[in-house]
Amino acid sequence: MKYCQGTRCHTYDTKDRKKGSKGNKRNETRKRTDFYYGNGNFCSLNCQTDWFNTHGDNAINHFGRVEQPIVLTEANAWNRRYNYHRWHGDNTDHLSEYIEVNTITREERDCE
Ligand SMILES: [Zn+2]
Repeated sequence: MKYCQGTRCHTYDTKDRKKGSKGNKRNETRKRTDFYYGNGNFCSLNCQTDWFNTHGDNAINHFGRVEQPIVLTEANAWNRRYNYHRWHGDNTDHLSEYIEVNTITREERDCE
């Protein structure tokens, strides 16, 4: 079991967050075996956003703020795609299932 990392998770008023009985009533951070958001760290997109609003700037500064554009060049723009030529015409079985397409030039090549 793990806790949602949302910084305001306990402030959202839902039944499953309510704990304790009269005199000791409280809302607590959600606890589950797994979560669906933020690599399994958050119970909702709201909680993920709350975390980012609280810690985002510090996290970016800690791990390295982007200070100049990250560049996609012809040389590193090759992506593996399903070979759509296989959908057209007859006797396409000899065509390989995947090809590489260059995002910049739109060139195609066989997979390496
Ligand atoms: Zn949460």
